[in-house]
Amino acid sequence: PGSRDPPDSKSPAITKDGQKRTIYHLDRHLHKDFPVVVSGKGNHLFTKDGRTIFDTTSGAAVSCLGHGNERVINAVHKQMTTGIPYLASSYWGSEIVDDLCKELINGTDGKMAKVYLTGSGSEAMEASAKLARQYFYENDKQTPRVNFIAREGSYHGNTIGALGISGHVARRAPYLPFLMPNVHHIPACNAYRQRKEGETDESFVARKALELEEKFLELGPETVIAFIAEPVVGAALGCVPYVPGYLRVMRDVCHKYGALLILDEVMCGMGRTGTLHAWQGEGVAPDLQTIGKGLGGGYQPIAAVLISEKVVNRLSDGSGQFVHGQTYQGMPVQAAAALEVQTILREENLMQNVATQGAYLEKRLKSLLADHPHVGDIRGKGLFWGLEFVRDKKTKEPFDPKLGVAQRVSDLALSPLYNMTLYPGGGTVDGVSGDHVILAPSYIVTK
Ligand code: PLP
Repeated sequence: PGSRDPPDSKSPAITKDGQKRTIYHLDRHLHKDFPVVVSGKGNHLFTKDGRTIFDTTSGAAVSCLGHGNERVINAVHKQMTTGIPYLASSYWGSEIVDDLCKELINGTDGKMAKVYLTGSGSEAMEASAKLARQYFYENDKQTPRVNFIAREGSYHGNTIGALGISGHVARRAPYLPFLMPNVHHIPACNAYRQRKEGETDESFVARKALELEEKFLELGPETVIAFIAEPVVGAALGCVPYVPGYLRVMRDVCHKYGALLILDEVMCGMGRTGTLHAWQGEGVAPDLQTIGKGLGGGYQPIAAVLISEKVVNRLSDGSGQFVHGQTYQGMPVQAAAALEVQTILREENLMQNVATQGAYLEKRLKSLLADHPHVGDIRGKGLFWGLEFVRDKKTKEPFDPKLGVAQRVSDLALSPLYNMTLYPGGGTVDGVSGDHVILAPSYIVTK
């Protein structure tokens, strides 16, 4: 049984194994009882009912150093004992916050100049959209640049702005009337579903660039603020990586028309794909970039926008400020956690482990599952892998969405038979049908 079973709507109590437990925490599912986790260490989670679960997914691709890392816990504790877990970033400076931002800028091959810290990936996406708009507004208060181009099959967050940018059909549906306007979606870059017979990487990405250029021309190139994309699509499609050459051609189209390129690396960034930033795989830096998840590794809620010199200079020469700000941004305790996570990543050369174990994971997934009649595609990069399930392997026909195949595979994985997490997702084909699961183990995973 999965989460799609009809709920027992008469009672707020959840019944499991004959026992009643009233759950006061409203999460996504009102009628699903989750195993209760009491502790974690390394790659494992320990549940109240005595099970040891292998965390194949690092939560939602978050816990990149695994659980219970003593160094990070101590760094957070040390910051707490200073008495300032929190400072209002609008009128205090903080050395640890500065140290984190310096560490982050040092990791960008000199491509980024400043960091804007936020408390979540959705907030980072909204901040990046506002920064992009301000980039044009600084020079011209009547700027015609009012449109964003994003992609179908994308996920950029759940707040009204970030969801407006997202091309995630199911998550958008209930809120369509008031999502952020002026966002126009073009097809994703999905080789498994879109590559035509005989198309090379080069001709495929050329076609993708043309789709973007056509959208620019349709909207009026002078009206476009930015093109927004995840280099490796996470939750919406299941680890679909850019095809070689894609980031470059898309950036070229943006810059040809004076627009910005925003890359959302909230899920695929901070080492997940084997380079610190996914764009470093192609050497194509964006104008603005969002990061999250692996930034703080789950030890604190923290995300950020990395801002290129071009954008910083425009603001600096103009109003000299970013008209934005939220209470929980740039907190010293968030910075302490993220700085320690990033220091460990660098000092222990964990990128190398991501590349090594990622290559091994790819080999094993393909040798075990490539011939499976219902595994249509195995794709990913580094330690970020997706399996797409199909009803018919030849035609790539998906399963009936009502079956909830990905959820059922995930539920089975978590059952006492396997005791492992798999991150399920639906809508892989057209936003409604199509199933995938994601594997995203920690960077300390062993063979
Ligand atoms: N962008 C991407 C690519 C994501 O995967 C997510 C979350 O899964 C977000 C943005 C939103 O981040 P958050 O859930 O921290 O708001």
